[in-house]
Formats: sequence, C-alpha cells, structure tokens
Amino acid sequence: MEGMEQAVAVVLKAFKLPWMPAEDLAQQVRLWSLEALASGKYDPSRPLAGYLVANAKNRCKNLLRDKLGRNDGGLVCASCDRGEPCSEGSHCGRYAAWLARQRTKKALFVPADFTSLAKDNARLLEDLGARDERGEREARELDELIDERLPAELRPYYLRMRDGARVTRAKRREVREAIAAILAESEAA
Ligand SMILES: [Zn+2]
Repeated sequence: MEGMEQAVAVVLKAFKLPWMPAEDLAQQVRLWSLEALASGKYDPSRPLAGYLVANAKNRCKNLLRDKLGRNDGGLVCASCDRGEPCSEGSHCGRYAAWLARQRTKKALFVPADFTSLAKDNARLLEDLGARDERGEREARELDELIDERLPAELRPYYLRMRDGARVTRAKRREVREAIAAILAESEAA
C-alpha cells in the first residue's frame, strides 16, 4: 500500500530507535498503519498517506516518550515539572540536570535536534550556576560517560556535531549509534 510505505519512509528518516533495527521499525509502522485503518477513525475523504504518516509519527513519539521516560520529570521535582520553579532561576539543579539529559537523548533519536543541543545544555548549565553542585555534577555525568566510552576515532566528529559544524551524514550516523549504545548500556546498568 502506497500510503503505508510513505509512512515507513518518513518514520525511518525522522526517527532512530537504538533498540530497534530499521527493518523492525518499518514492520512496526506497517502494523500501526493497519491498526489505524482497522480502528475506523480514518475519514476516506482525506488523503490516506497524510493520515498514515501522522499516525505513525505520533505512535513513534509515544513509544520514544515511554521508552525514554520523559514523563518522570515529576519524580525528579514535582514543582519544577509543573512549571513552578522550586528555587531561584527557572529550575532547580536536579531538574535542570534531568532536562539536559532528556534533551540529549531526544536529540540523539530525533537527529534534526542535535545541533541545538550544545547551546541548550550550555544555557541550562549557566542557569544552574554554581549554587547546586550536585545538579551540575549530574548534568556532566553524561558528557563524562561519552568522553570515556566513545571510540577515539569518532570523537572529533562528535565534537564537531556538538558545535553545530558540518559532519557527513554517514559519520553523524556512526556517532549517534555509538552514543545510543553507550546510553543504552548506562540505562541498563
Ligand atoms: Zn525543583
């Protein structure tokens, strides 16, 4: 089905799930498409491809959110998570560290976000200031982990990506895959 394969192509281009090889993700998108059609919510007067693409992207985002635990911010700091900063500045240290980590993960899996990552995290750390050493330390743990475990030959490309400099598509992919593996390992530990 043409609309279904269009949804597959869009999702494979936009998302990278380290725990799921591309061919499995493609199958998953086909399954989501069949489920969406079976649900009876599709309005046949609207384009099928658009419907299936939107459905697959939403399902994929939900899957990422569940898998990456983006809903657990309330456990880190309920007040900051509600948008009512519990301390001076826009977040407390713990929450800022958690946010930085979520953004790093999101940027890895949704590649278009990678270039703004370094800037965002720098701003968060600045916001954090020196007043919460613990939070600052947590925010840096991920950097240290990457420093420690990223293969040396990928390091220059990783640094270029963080700076928003040009890196070939193939190298970007290699770096992302290496970091995703490091993250998956550290989460499992
Ligand atoms: Zn807080």
